[in-house]
Amino acid sequence: MHAKDSIMVGTTSFTSNIALSQKLMGIAKIANPDAVTILGGHHPSVMDVDSARHPSIDVVVRGEGELTVRQLAYEIAKGTRKYRNVSGITFKDGDVVRNPDREEFVDFKDTPLPSFDIIPEEYRNQLLCYVVRSRGCKYNCLFCSESEY
Ligand code: SF4
Repeated sequence: MHAKDSIMVGTTSFTSNIALSQKLMGIAKIANPDAVTILGGHHPSVMDVDSARHPSIDVVVRGEGELTVRQLAYEIAKGTRKYRNVSGITFKDGDVVRNPDREEFVDFKDTPLPSFDIIPEEYRNQLLCYVVRSRGCKYNCLFCSESEY
């Protein structure tokens, strides 16, 4: 699939690479101005309103995004561009709108590992993948975004 055929494009971001993520979403918009651009990760979760104001970003997914992105994908596939019932997001709808936090999350102990055998043979030696199997931290260091995320 090419970027011009995508109806939603997303990436994650820390503060250290937020400019790069914004640029990437800008490139996606050039390839397909109708694609919905989604930004998630630590920086957008803490700075969601500011992140959603960027012209290349349509929707910010706050916090743990698996269920939020799935629901968002359903809404985008419907083509209505109405996201008021998707919890855990901040998005543009005239002004920036901040929906309520999402209350439910994926429990990783019930989640199987990804099926790496579906990756085409020619890409197997080129990909660097990491798999997150836990989240959170029991500490609350002042300088760390983990408790916010
Ligand atoms: S820096 Fe963050 S992740 Fe590390 S111990 Fe402190 S709160 Fe936990």
